[in-house]
Amino acid sequence: MNPSQFERKVKQTIQKYNLLKKSDKVLVALSGGKDSMTVLFLLKKFGYDISALHINLEMGKWSEAHLQNIIKFCKELKVPLHVYSVRKELGRSMCSIKSIVKSKAKLQDCTICGIIRRWLINKKARMLGANVVVTGHNLDDASQTVLMNYFKGNLFIGLNEGPKVGIIEDKKFVQRVKPLYFIPEKDVELYSKSQKFPVIYERCPCVVGAYRHKIRQMLDDIQKTNPEIKENIVQSFLKILPGLRKKVLAGKPIYCKICGEPGRKDICRACSIMRYIK
Ligand code: AMP
Ligand code: ZN
Repeated sequence: MNPSQFERKVKQTIQKYNLLKKSDKVLVALSGGKDSMTVLFLLKKFGYDISALHINLEMGKWSEAHLQNIIKFCKELKVPLHVYSVRKELGRSMCSIKSIVKSKAKLQDCTICGIIRRWLINKKARMLGANVVVTGHNLDDASQTVLMNYFKGNLFIGLNEGPKVGIIEDKKFVQRVKPLYFIPEKDVELYSKSQKFPVIYERCPCVVGAYRHKIRQMLDDIQKTNPEIKENIVQSFLKILPGLRKKVLAGKPIYCKICGEPGRKDICRACSIMRYIK
């Protein structure tokens, strides 16, 4: 895919799935990786009203290098940036949170980090007055997630999947969207490198050993002889998704008894993790 095909495909995804309007107040969740930096650049280029949000996970030199790249890039693009630190918000670094919670909650490192990040991003987005949060998830992430849920024996975990996230509409939930949902990871990398974005291309140091990593390796391997595999997995899942969603009572969310954030249980997933670190 050349750069103009790449840009056209992202635009088409935004239009086809009604992801963004020019009147939206858009907040791009920036990790500092190639995906979110690319989506930030493109939305600015397409003329959306954007600002950026970064959660500093306080993972030593890794986080510091990402933060510096993010500050530089947002300055270059003239995008307002909001940075929050997990240490300030929750009293500990992400590594410390994970090491305490991991055995007690029987959750994987990446799951713990993901739950805390989503919880913080939703809260901060609401506070900042954004009505849409954009993330950099790509086709590889999407196909891995579908397979992981399948292998767990529960496709219902994926009800929130798709380019436009969520089954429950509520004023406390900020809509999340994924403009790179149909773009293969290798094409995002090519684009980002061709534009010389200030990005570190290594994966998060915690990812090795994670279940997702095994699924990624498996899919990459099969793709060598079956180039369409990731697109096929995602497209076939999207076909059955409306049916899956109908089977579940969407209804109103339950507000967490501890933090007041919307979720599906009396105590939200983030608070059920955070009680171990208090
Ligand atoms: P990941 O779960 O690391 O694959 O990240 C998926 C998406 O979540 C990224 O493309 C970003 O849009 C967002 N994201 C990840 N980490 C952060 C972070 N530390 N701060 C803000 N957004 C993030
Ligand atoms: Zn809660």
